Amino acid sequence: MPTMGALHEGHTSLIKRADEECDTVVLSILVNPTQFSNEIDLATYPRTLEKDALIAQKAGVDVIFAPTAEDLYEGKPAAEEISWGYLTSEFEARHRHGHFDGVVAVVERLFETVMPQKSYFGEKDLQQVAVIRRLVSERGHSTEVISCELLRHQEGLALSSRNTRLSEAGRMTALKLFKALLEAKKQITSGAHRKETLVQHKAMLSSVSEIALEYISGVNELTFNPQELPDNWTHIVVAADVDGVRLIDNIRL
Ligand code: AMP
Repeated sequence: MPTMGALHEGHTSLIKRADEECDTVVLSILVNPTQFSNEIDLATYPRTLEKDALIAQKAGVDVIFAPTAEDLYEGKPAAEEISWGYLTSEFEARHRHGHFDGVVAVVERLFETVMPQKSYFGEKDLQQVAVIRRLVSERGHSTEVISCELLRHQEGLALSSRNTRLSEAGRMTALKLFKALLEAKKQITSGAHRKETLVQHKAMLSSVSEIALEYISGVNELTFNPQELPDNWTHIVVAADVDGVRLIDNIRL
């Protein structure tokens, strides 16, 4: 199970599932430099290895693999450019240039090093799950990719290591993203026009001065085609900057 540490209950839900399904659970912790397109985000990403070790052990991890980037990459961390259509050009890929190049680079190194029979990824990073599935089929890795449900705080905020950088006011603002997803889903499932519903929620979120909206859109979880027919949407995805913290969330339709 690859992570960047600063473990929270979203991570431990994956660990617990892996513990139920596997004899040995290996958790990797590395703040992977090649997947960051923003130096400040990389520098301020929380690093809490000792605390993580306690949480991991309690949740059922047998082995923690926490290499330095230089060791894992056997030299200077670098990633080749990946071109897998919309998966690596739209949504997260468009807004975080080179992000999936870095994700593919690190996960491939981890697959080669740990050789897991099963690997666990959270649907919090929905597009990442699609990219990893593509990585496995494209390069013939023999691991079963298991995607796990997105976990939220009680009030609805998606659990994320970056939430620790939000102020109390920022958390309240961030909740508006979840509420927009929830409301849009409610309208769509009660028959509202899918595209128009999203246009309205986009306008609403764009009007909130504390939110720098990147996108809110319907997607198909397999294609991430921005022109996907609304009838084929499986999720609504959203990304925005709140309080200088980049947040992503999604909801299944
Ligand atoms: P990260 O440490 O953010 O790279 O996340 C490591 C793994 O945990 C990824 O597969 C994430 O999708 C997953 N994860 C992070 N937050 C959540 C969450 N709130 N619910 C479910 N999975 C999560």
